[in-house]
Amino acid sequence: MKADKLPKLRQQLSSTLAALKGLLGPAFDSTPILPGAVHVSRHRCGKPQCRCVTEKKLHESVRLQIRFQDGLTNRALTEEQVAFFTPRAEAYRRLRQAGRALRKWEKEVHQILESIEQERRSTEGLSDEDQKRPLR
Ligand SMILES: [Zn+2]
Repeated sequence: MKADKLPKLRQQLSSTLAALKGLLGPAFDSTPILPGAVHVSRHRCGKPQCRCVTEKKLHESVRLQIRFQDGLTNRALTEEQVAFFTPRAEAYRRLRQAGRALRKWEKEVHQILESIEQERRSTEGLSDEDQKRPLR
């Protein structure tokens, strides 16, 4: 009997279960979501005497990358739009992150379940012949 590993596995399962609610926190948020990301783009403007050439100080503009079904689109944002879209894009990022964390969590739980099954397997009561056959 190798039941000594079971308490540890059960403890592992309990703490993994307890972590689930925190992991899904973003799903309880109600911020509107826009699939996309706000980012700063740095570029040269093309004027030969501009500081972006002479001082190598690139122009910065805040852009919104929107994820449409048929592809990505970038739009320049005004300051007001930055304030409007950033929380929506952030809420999207958090929810996607929660989805990835959930898939990782599922894998962990599966591994624990498989370990628990291994630990609890018993061929007790089977015939000598059947005891020699590997179980599924
Ligand atoms: Zn310039």
